Amino acid sequence: SDHKLEYPKSPDSMDWSKYYPGFVDSETGKLDRQVEIADIGCGFGGLLVDLAPHFPDSLILGMEIRVQVTQYVEDRIIALRLQHKDTNKYQNISVIRANAMKFLPNFFHKGQLSKMFFCFPDPHFKQRKHKARIITTTLLSEYAYVLREGGVVYTITDVKDLHEWMVSHLDEHPLFERLSKEWEDQDPCVAIMRESTEEGKKVARNNGDKFVACYRRVAA
Ligand code: SAM
Repeated sequence: SDHKLEYPKSPDSMDWSKYYPGFVDSETGKLDRQVEIADIGCGFGGLLVDLAPHFPDSLILGMEIRVQVTQYVEDRIIALRLQHKDTNKYQNISVIRANAMKFLPNFFHKGQLSKMFFCFPDPHFKQRKHKARIITTTLLSEYAYVLREGGVVYTITDVKDLHEWMVSHLDEHPLFERLSKEWEDQDPCVAIMRESTEEGKKVARNNGDKFVACYRRVAA
């Protein structure tokens, strides 16, 4: 439940410096760059950890609604930073407890993000629960708002019905255009997303399918 969550009044009122202390400008005390990559419903943080070395100059943020899971990811990142303090690795990943279905434009400016990941989102199987899914037409308009032109939405799931749901909503949305299979095959993030999340590993252990769909944010 998210009744105790607090949301920033606007992106500028968010103090990110405590999330990414390694990127604080010593003169201004503020971050020298903005979050650029978001992992929505990041779970235990496997994707964040594996993306970190691939995008050393980009800030990557996991958003997770569960308190204990968020705490786990926070502790995991602190431990990694400590382990690698000589090389400053893992300073570029962080996690925030938030309901990503609410007030996303209060966290990010228009066009701020270059990539958003939706890895193995909760399927909400029952028909009457479909509106609780993290990909809906309304939410896609918010994702389009925080994504820059050319930015990419990544989705992966083992639930065929959910995959088809996400594809049909994204296909229908005027601000998204599906990327080809060839594009997926050459994109390093697709490979990482297939292998690195905890849910993805579970699916692999059970020999389950993984359905991928990626979409580019196009100009209005
Ligand atoms: N992405 C991770 C992975 O692939 O291992 C976790 C997948 S898990 C099935 C879905 C996650 O999304 C859960 O950790 C859940 O708490 C989180 N979640 C569900 N709804 C959310 C929301 N509205 N905002 C943020 N996180 C959410």
